[in-house]
Amino acid sequence: MTDRYYRHYLIPEIGREGQHRLRASAVLLIGLGGLGSPAALYLAAAGVGTLGLVDGDCVEISNLQRQVIHRTGDIGRSKVDSAAETIRELNPDVALRYYREYATHDLLAGMVQDYDIVISAPDTFDARLMINDCCVAAGVPCVHAGVSGIEGQVMTTLPGTACYRCAFVPSGDAGLPEAVSPIGTLGVAAALGGTLQAAEVLKYLCGYGELMTDRILLFDLAGTSLYSVPVRKRQECRTCGVTGHPVSGSK
Ligand SMILES: [Zn+2]
Repeated sequence: MTDRYYRHYLIPEIGREGQHRLRASAVLLIGLGGLGSPAALYLAAAGVGTLGLVDGDCVEISNLQRQVIHRTGDIGRSKVDSAAETIRELNPDVALRYYREYATHDLLAGMVQDYDIVISAPDTFDARLMINDCCVAAGVPCVHAGVSGIEGQVMTTLPGTACYRCAFVPSGDAGLPEAVSPIGTLGVAAALGGTLQAAEVLKYLCGYGELMTDRILLFDLAGTSLYSVPVRKRQECRTCGVTGHPVSGSK
């Protein structure tokens, strides 16, 4: 009879000490869609002690092609409730906190500091910027990701490193144009993005490897290429820059 985490004990980067660290950790998952599904499943399986689940949506049939934490029988249910049931069946040792609502600045500002690290996995670019701003303001690490079609990107921010706005909004003011209609997403592209987010969280919590800070990882599943490019912390960034304005608004 072996322990649930026996294969972790055999990895020098984790071992029993790392497993204890995971059990003592709390991770906030914002968005239980294509990215959040694999991230939640793997963090739960890995034995993270507490997972906070944030999503205001209900499961729709068109989600199931990529949001693998939900099942056909979950259509119409809250994504938080659906994901929580799957997580409980996978690993009943994980404590869950439920936030059946959309991520807003007010919601996050009151609770991100209760978590060791955040996984940002919402639908929209504006929401990713808002989550970035809340995490930077609270000094909480965050792993960002986005996916479109067969491509995606992943970036980790820690207090003092380049933030997500530094990577995408050179002027520090405006967001990128939002898509007016749903974008196509290959299920396995979201799976890769969410799994890489979980991998960043495990590195951070157990203290091994090099995080994707001050750079952004880009992947493309047509050529099956995976590479990173540097991201410079911008002095004029309104979120993290020294000449920027303190963040108090919604994005
Ligand atoms: Zn910044």
